[in-house]
Amino acid sequence: FIIPDFRGFCHHLDQIYNSCKNNTNGKVASYIPQLARLKSEHWAVSVCTVDGQRYSNGDVNVPFTLQSCSYVMTYAMVLGLLGAEEVHSRIGMEPSGRQFNELCLDYNNKPHNPMINAGAIMTAALVKPHLSAADRFDFIFNMYRRLAGDEFLGFNNAVFLSEKECADRNFALAYFMRENKCFPEGTRLHETLDFYFQLCSLEITAESGAVMAATLANGGINPLTGDPVLTVDAVRNTLTLMHSCGMYNYSGQFAFKVGLPSKSGVSGCVLLVIPNTMGICLWSPPLDNNGNSCRGVQFCMELVSRFNFHNFDNL
Ligand code: GLU
Repeated sequence: FIIPDFRGFCHHLDQIYNSCKNNTNGKVASYIPQLARLKSEHWAVSVCTVDGQRYSNGDVNVPFTLQSCSYVMTYAMVLGLLGAEEVHSRIGMEPSGRQFNELCLDYNNKPHNPMINAGAIMTAALVKPHLSAADRFDFIFNMYRRLAGDEFLGFNNAVFLSEKECADRNFALAYFMRENKCFPEGTRLHETLDFYFQLCSLEITAESGAVMAATLANGGINPLTGDPVLTVDAVRNTLTLMHSCGMYNYSGQFAFKVGLPSKSGVSGCVLLVIPNTMGICLWSPPLDNNGNSCRGVQFCMELVSRFNFHNFDNL
């Protein structure tokens, strides 16, 4: 086993879970009513190792929307479809140092990276653009299902409809990119935005999220089903950008303090990847000023203070 004393390890996870439970900082996102209604008390931790050992504690079977955690999977899939060169002819690979939804492009007139809104809208535009909207959704849903190894995957239509209603900024970003000729020729702007909102509205549970993270930790092969969902190159590139850009404007500090690839989203989800070891999904809706789950970030800090998981721990 990759974690020989798994029971001992789980005992530590229980302790960290309980210590984070006492953290009542942060505010639940309120830009749409469906997110504002999330309970602050929800707290879930789920682990899946690359050899299939599982740990779960708390609300691990309550569905929540992926929001910007979806950027990671869609980006990895697009890399597999088009290759890094083509994808990065349209999207940068640099942390923006700006707000995640700021109306700006990099010096080459590209979105800074695929982990912020502009880059994720561009990523969505690159997924099988010749297919109909329905077939595109089927395609991506099936890919996500393979990532989760047939564990829970849903779609929250109420979140989708509200995202679409309250999306002035995302529309502005898309028009700004169109004005700057960022999209491939023939891109249907409104259909692309709809697709982007649909991706944000995909639902997982902490348990199924842990399997997705574990698939990344395992180089793209789902550790439970053996399904080679993503290519190794795609996963390497994805983990790299999660490491440098995954935690909003806290990404640099997170890389310094935790040293692991991760992505967080506005629903309070954090996907954490310990390469070649395990995937972890954390979920707690209250967010800090950077937009990261308060309990989620605390969990990551406590985890690396107990175990040598930081990228540069083994020197
Ligand atoms: N649907 C949200 C938006 O596009 C996602 C934001 C996030 O999770 O960062 O604004």
